[in-house]
Amino acid sequence: MATDASKRIALLGATGSIGTSCQDVVRAQPGRMVFDTLTAHSRWRELAQACDEFRPRFAVLTGVRRQDVAANAFPSEVTVLYGDEAVAERAAADETDVVVSAIVGAAGLRGTWAAVEAGKTVALANKETMVVAGPLVTRLAARTGSKLIPVDSEHSAIFQALQCGHEREVARLILTASGGPFRTRPKEHLAQVTAADALDHPTWDMGPKITIDSATMMNKALEVIEARWLFGFPADQIEVVVHPQSIVHSMVEFVDGSVLAQLSPPDMRLPVQYALTWPERTAGVSPRLDLSQAFALSFEPPDLDRFPALNLGFEVARQGGTAGAVLNAANEVAVSRFLRGELSFLEIARLSRSILAAHDFEAEPTLDVVLRQDRWAREEAENWTSLMSHSQPCVSPIP
Ligand code: NAD
Ligand code: MG
Repeated sequence: MATDASKRIALLGATGSIGTSCQDVVRAQPGRMVFDTLTAHSRWRELAQACDEFRPRFAVLTGVRRQDVAANAFPSEVTVLYGDEAVAERAAADETDVVVSAIVGAAGLRGTWAAVEAGKTVALANKETMVVAGPLVTRLAARTGSKLIPVDSEHSAIFQALQCGHEREVARLILTASGGPFRTRPKEHLAQVTAADALDHPTWDMGPKITIDSATMMNKALEVIEARWLFGFPADQIEVVVHPQSIVHSMVEFVDGSVLAQLSPPDMRLPVQYALTWPERTAGVSPRLDLSQAFALSFEPPDLDRFPALNLGFEVARQGGTAGAVLNAANEVAVSRFLRGELSFLEIARLSRSILAAHDFEAEPTLDVVLRQDRWAREEAENWTSLMSHSQPCVSPIP
């Protein structure tokens, strides 16, 4: 039930993994928050179902046309809009208090940008926004007063730990990584792993793109870049440690040597909820740590030889400029080509590195330049062939 005090949310990417976690959170906070807008790309039936339950004022579809959607699929009081422009409009609308940015890939940038430009509070799951245009987005947010609250579990953990000290007292941000499904796989086996192997994540249930990114550790690379711009610390103050249980979501080390961590079972509903209730905390739907059973937490350094994508994250976080946009675009194309069976697993990082090395770097790009570099990198990545691809059979596509 909506009240005058309810936070009105525009959820961009309502049908995805984060989108449905956000639906769970809002369902459990009656009166405190309501959906004003729900958006999806092509899964209109699922969007219509969510509209049936939550009765937002607006629904937006970006990947299907009006004539593809069954008449009367949506409740009559929901206004259904079509196209990317409508996502940006609803993100910036006066009636929107908070925008949850949960579209996958650089496609999430436009709506997030519109929200930041309009000075909204943004619960940011779409890490690609910060990878592609981090410095531009934070500068814009400083100008408009927009607040960026992280949803990515590692960044939420760091955001929470940072509240225990002053910025100048921080020594290191320590991002934890699960290590993905191939953490213990010998290097010589990695060339042969299939998309189905890579989609089988040991601790997290996520959308397909981020699941492949976790398997290559490109996800952690993107998160290093995300942390660089979101928190404003240089790459040399960011570290990655592998923690297979995914219970410690990340840590901050302060100058006196004290390390503060945030712990909880791996479930994205907690960081989504925290981003929506911050600076308060409320009871919710996330599971609790069960300390009645014995369990161990372990930590190990990442293996940069088997997971070379991770190094790219540190390099790009150091370079800034157009490097993030190019790395992200190259990786997005590489992941879809891997899922289509056109590239082997190890070629994802190889392709990304070679496109990054070939690009025309600019240190202080405008948004237009960043978007142009994104398009260039996508074209290059679609046409990229490995010199080694003749000797390495491509894996079979997922059915
Ligand atoms: P997903 O694939 O499950 O869902 C993506 C959502 O975006 C869907 O609602 C889809 O309809 C929409 N979408 C897809 N392409 C679109 C396009 N071109 N234009 C407009 N909408 C489009 O993805 P996800 O796993 O929920 O991830 C969403 C974002 O959150 C990603 O940036 C990911 O890195 C980040 N994230 C996800 C998790 C997780 O646990 N899933 C954790 C941390 C961060
Ligand atoms: Mg994460």
